[in-house]
Amino acid sequence: MADLKLLSKLSEAFGVPGNEEEISGIMEAEFKKAGLKTERDRIGNVIAYGAGAKKSPLMLGAHMDEIGLMVKFISDKGFIRFIKIGGIDNRILPNQRIVIRTKKGGVPGVIGCKPPHLQKEEETKSAIECKHLFIDVGAKDAKEAAALGIEIGDPIGFAMPLTVLNKNLITGKALDNRIGCYILLQLAKTLKHKNIIFVGTVQEEVSTFGKGAAIGAYNLSPVAFIAIDTTIAADHPETSEDESAIALGKGPAIGLVEAGGHGNMADKALAASVLSLCKKHKIPHQLEVIDGGATDATTVYNVRGGIPSIAISVPARYIHSNVSVCKLSDIEKTQELMEKIAAAGIR
Ligand SMILES: [Zn+2]
Repeated sequence: MADLKLLSKLSEAFGVPGNEEEISGIMEAEFKKAGLKTERDRIGNVIAYGAGAKKSPLMLGAHMDEIGLMVKFISDKGFIRFIKIGGIDNRILPNQRIVIRTKKGGVPGVIGCKPPHLQKEEETKSAIECKHLFIDVGAKDAKEAAALGIEIGDPIGFAMPLTVLNKNLITGKALDNRIGCYILLQLAKTLKHKNIIFVGTVQEEVSTFGKGAAIGAYNLSPVAFIAIDTTIAADHPETSEDESAIALGKGPAIGLVEAGGHGNMADKALAASVLSLCKKHKIPHQLEVIDGGATDATTVYNVRGGIPSIAISVPARYIHSNVSVCKLSDIEKTQELMEKIAAAGIR
């Protein structure tokens, strides 16, 4: 049974790239609760060691950061212009609830834009550009916005509670990659006696370069790395199977090639071992060769002399939005596969 309370806590936590303090605090507390020792490196990765951790470990990583925004400019009238941090489709932005993380705490707001009544016909035909959107925090002028604590450079996250759909699916913000964080925490409990280091990484969404993961892998020098992430499920009416055949309910996606070959090409021996374990234990799984999108595995493979890496992902519909949808059975099957990998002692 999935722990929905923990899933909600992880999904709803703030963690825009470079500002992961809230989500990393939750991860650290959960690792400790599970009996692991933790440390944070300078960039902000949360590194957890169980009793079995020693030299040359397997590194399991899940990025903790989420797509978000940042304050760019505060107008005389108290409205805020922003930039996007990470891969965000402009079409998901208008009229969303957000929270600005200031030094004084969280300030709620909404992303405003011109209502349909006032839009010219040509304006209705395309997505509103980010530069024409603004945030309304209810301040009447720049002075009131400043009194709320808002400053240029403050990170902005989306506000959306996690909800269950039809008993066995969940929808919410930041499922990419709080689902991976959730699985990592479950694995920390069951695999802490193994020679594994569990890492909540930072700054994966900034580009296709998982900055935190690369730094973590350099310092930890693991024998292999597995990124636990989410990927694009396309099983809905507006996508055809030849665009992406990854679907909910068919188990974890084994990432063979990321970002159309610009991202990670999975280590062949590692991929073969993972696939033979899926077969042996009859774990449903999907092969993933994807045009766009990469994971921490892409950067970690380039670290030191080359660390064999692969990504194993939970499918998510409407990824990089506030209403991503994942299936609980895919989360469970991904966890099961990771446990089989650890038991087999993959190198
Ligand atoms: Zn991700």
